[in-house]
This record gives sequence, structure tokens and C-alpha cells, in this order.
Amino acid sequence: MSRRSEPVATGAPGRVRYVADAVVTMDEQRSVHRPGVVEVEGGRIVAVGPAVAPHSAAPGAGPGAVTEIAVGGLLMPGLVNCHGHTAMTLLRGAGDGLPLERWLSEAIWPREARLTPDDAYWGMALGCAELLLAGVTSTCEQYLFPRPVAAAALDAGIRCILAPAIFDLPGAGPDATWQRCLDVAGEVHAELDGRDDRLSIALGPHGAYTLPEEGLVSTAKVAAELDALVHIHVAETQAEDEPIRARYGCSTPAFLARLGFLDCRVLAAHSVWLSDEDLDLYRDHDVAVAHCPQSNGKLGSGIARVPHMLRRGIRVGLGTDGPASNDNLDLWEELRLAPLLARATATDAAAMGTAEALALATTGGAAALGLDVGSLAPGRRADMVRLELDDPVFVPGVSESELVAHLVWAASSRLVTDVWVGGRQVVAGRSCTTVDVTEAGRAVAERVRRLAHAGS
Ligand SMILES: [Zn+2]
Repeated sequence: MSRRSEPVATGAPGRVRYVADAVVTMDEQRSVHRPGVVEVEGGRIVAVGPAVAPHSAAPGAGPGAVTEIAVGGLLMPGLVNCHGHTAMTLLRGAGDGLPLERWLSEAIWPREARLTPDDAYWGMALGCAELLLAGVTSTCEQYLFPRPVAAAALDAGIRCILAPAIFDLPGAGPDATWQRCLDVAGEVHAELDGRDDRLSIALGPHGAYTLPEEGLVSTAKVAAELDALVHIHVAETQAEDEPIRARYGCSTPAFLARLGFLDCRVLAAHSVWLSDEDLDLYRDHDVAVAHCPQSNGKLGSGIARVPHMLRRGIRVGLGTDGPASNDNLDLWEELRLAPLLARATATDAAAMGTAEALALATTGGAAALGLDVGSLAPGRRADMVRLELDDPVFVPGVSESELVAHLVWAASSRLVTDVWVGGRQVVAGRSCTTVDVTEAGRAVAERVRRLAHAGS
């Protein structure tokens, strides 16, 4: 058994071959190699396979061109977070016990109206470290202050789709209107989209119940012009649907379809309260879903019909939501809750398979976001995680399917030791190499004291 070596220098040139005791690829064949190798070059995976046979060199690469590193443990794809407001580490746990509508209007929006750009930077920096330390390598965000949030994501080295929030933030003054937010989102898209291959800019209309019809239509128009992903909350609670039904006589998805909004590339967070007809609309318009079981549980919102979505071929990934309604950014908890709730709701242990659950956190999330990550396969970006295998939860792990089952039902983020994003190591030996966690924690704590002092 090979043991792990010293952390790999970030940005190591040339091809690197990682040799692990186990490689769970999540490729199309769901291959597991024990032991296995993953070869990385230029930020992408170039080869994956069993470690027993000598691995082929890249075309043109001569002998000795590969740096081999014995990492031991288990390598798997980095987890993909499809819905987050990560900078809300500043508001962690605020408003516990309130339902969504009161939670937003009484606990969240009054605090957010007092945030500064620097607050958002430090909140995002701390949250990115929390995500990376848990093995989450991609995150799809919707938040205010897009420039400092993007800067914090880039500094942390996480892969990020950032959707600047678009709505009228109560109490935040005349600049915080949906129109101004949409203008800023367009400017940020022009400035930052694609400037770094880890960052892309989407649009984040908050929801059909927090934007006027004109705001939704205008956002859809800009999204079509930019071919940008639209990241929106849909059908999170039953109550959210009532004003739409009262005014337009149809469900929120039907209303959005009528506006032409669903003709965009839409990622619909939550999507808890959907009828069969709504699900058919999602399928017909290729709407992707970010399933947030822990946030939906904490706010008492309900349980999304994920097996019904998957049966229709709807793309589904998992989301932590913000740390004010979760209250952590540990996607391993969603990975376990998704199949637990699906099975409990259906009273059927076959309602969601174990490998299907792991796919939600990896390949499913990648498909929902349109990212070429989520599996360890040639051509994919080298976003991967090492787990400690010398742990009681992996005993016994005789078969490959047992190993995958232990990842879902028994493992947790505490086993994550090393993390790479695009081949760059961002967590080494359980320490985040890109964010000074002590400094970020101190900065957030100081800012939270200021926000509390200002009255809440
Ligand atoms: Zn949300």
C-alpha cells in the first residue's frame, strides 16, 4: 500500500501521476480502481486507470516527463455545490425557527442591507475555505456584492459560477433595485466572465415572488443575449406560490414558462412544491434543479420530489444553500440526506440508489451547472479530493460497490485530507493553502459584532 507524500506544490508544471489505494472515478462505467492512478496535466485529467500496469505517457512526452506522487488513500471527484450564498457565513444561523418568508424579511434582509463590500469579501473567503476543506471544489452562488465575492472566490481558488442577485433589497436604498442589480450583473459579466477558467458569471433573479414581471422578463432578455445561466429560487415553499396563483392563475413554473423565462438556461434552486405538470415543464424546457434538502428541512419548507425529477431525465444536483439556513457548507450532509429523504418519503429503500446519490453530488451537479467536472475521466478538469481510507468507516470494504456505499452512508468530510481544483492543490494535509482561515474567521467575527451592534 502506498502512503501519501508531502503536499504537491501548487502549479507544478508538466504531467503529474497520482497513485492512490483507490480511485472512485464516477465515469460513465462507474469504474473503481484499487489501486489506481490519475494523471493530470495543464489543469485537466489526461489518464485514469488501475495502478498495476505501467501507464501510458502522453503523446510526445518522453520517459521521465511524469512526476509520480504516491498519495495513498482514496481519490474521487470534488463535490459540486449547485446552490449557495456562501458569503452568508456573516449571518450563520440567523433567524432560527422562522419560516422562509419571515426568516427573509425579519432576520436576513435587514442584516444584508447593512453589509459592505468588504464584509462580503471576508464572508465569502471564510465560506470558500469551509467548502474546500469539505472537498467541495465547485460552487454555484447567488449573492449581492458580486465583485468582492468573485475576488474572494478567485483568491480561494475554488471553481465558481457567480450569479449577482437581482431583486429590490428592502431597506438597502435606491441603488438596490432589480434594475440596478441587473445593470451591475451585466457589467460584471463583461468584466469577469471567462477571465479565469474557474469563474463564470450567471444572472441571479432572486425569485418570481420577489421580482416584478417586468424584472423577470428583462432578466431573461439579458440572459439570452449573454447566453448566461439563470440561477433562481423556485417553489421553495407552498406560501411562495400563493401570490403568483392569485395574480396569474397558475403555478410559478407555469408563470415563468408563459413569460418565456424557461427558454433560458435555468437552474432552479429548491423546486420543492412542484406538480406533475410543473415537472413536465422542467423536463420540456431542460430546467436543472439544485436540491437543498438540509436547508429545506431547517426552514420547514418540504421535501423535493427528486426521484420523480430523475425519472423524467431532469438534471439534478445538490446545494448547501447559505450558511444562514443550513448552517454549514458541508455537502456530504446533503449527499446523505438526499437518498434518506427520498427513501423515507416513498417508504421504499429502492427510491434512490447509492451510486445515484453519489452522482447527484458529482456528475449530476456538473450536468446541472454545465461544467466539465464531476468525474475523474480524461478531458475533465482536474478537480479532485483525497480521503483517508485508514478509518473504521471503510471497514469492511471488500467490493467496489461496498466502497461506494461507504462513501455515501458512512464517510464524511472529516476524512477529506487534500483537494485540487484544476490541478492546483488548495487543501493539503487538512489545511487550506489559499485562505488564511484564522484571519478570515477573525475578520468575519469582528464584522458580525459590528452588524449586531448596529441593531438587528
Ligand atoms: Zn437560496
